[in-house]
Amino acid sequence: MTAMVKAEGVHKSFGHVEVLKGIDLEVASGEVFCLIGPSGSGKSTFLRCINHLEKVNAGRLYVDGELVGYRQKGDKLYELKDSEVAMKRRDIGMVFQRFNLFPHMTALENVMEAPIQVKGQAKAEARERAGQLLERVGLAEQQRVAIARALAMDPKLMLFDEPTSALDPELVGDVLDVMRDLAESGMTMIVVTHEMGFAREVGDSLVFMDGGVVVESGHPRDVLTNPSHERTKSFLSKVL
Ligand code: ADP
Ligand code: MG
Repeated sequence: MTAMVKAEGVHKSFGHVEVLKGIDLEVASGEVFCLIGPSGSGKSTFLRCINHLEKVNAGRLYVDGELVGYRQKGDKLYELKDSEVAMKRRDIGMVFQRFNLFPHMTALENVMEAPIQVKGQAKAEARERAGQLLERVGLAEQQRVAIARALAMDPKLMLFDEPTSALDPELVGDVLDVMRDLAESGMTMIVVTHEMGFAREVGDSLVFMDGGVVVESGHPRDVLTNPSHERTKSFLSKVL
């Protein structure tokens, strides 16, 4: 069976700074693949490479058996045209930590109604408070909408880049539930997350990245309960 994602010695630099220093990994079709690691370790950059938002400098990256960003002829690589990249990106859904707020006037009016009518609250005050409340709940709702929007394109791969990091703790579960359902439906998912509970319960594999390399990988339960590297242990002691 072809892997949905395959990375062989993937390198990525920004100027003189090497961010990905030879990533080797494989994500099977239908797998929930969790990616953890400290800030700055290259997790987002790796997802962005998969989704054609960055071009790898060396190594090979494949999605569904096809080279990402390039066409190979003999020994030579040719960069894909923008139109070709656009076609390939349609097959990949991506959900980020945050995305732009959409106007929710109707919701705002709804939330303002009772404080004004029942409590006699001033309109300006009610509006301000309603806005604050909606913003909190709205972030979770927006992430659910973002996921739905990505799914509307029938992607074969979904990338999640810390989708719950900007949410209040009591709202995180709502978004994780959507992701859990999606996982159960058989979607191939790469999830960058600090939610170790999700990784343990839903993940099929877990990779710990640090400093642009894969330090350790395996079944989430094994990596989380019995990490073999010092760096993994030290990271987990901070997030668990
Ligand atoms: P993570 O998602 O694990 O926190 P990132 O992939 O966002 O890590 O970043 C890894 C490193 O690459 C960081 O040091 C970051 O500053 C750097 N980096 C990311 N994107 C760019 C860019 N477009 N230009 C320059 N440096 C970048
Ligand atoms: Mg990141």
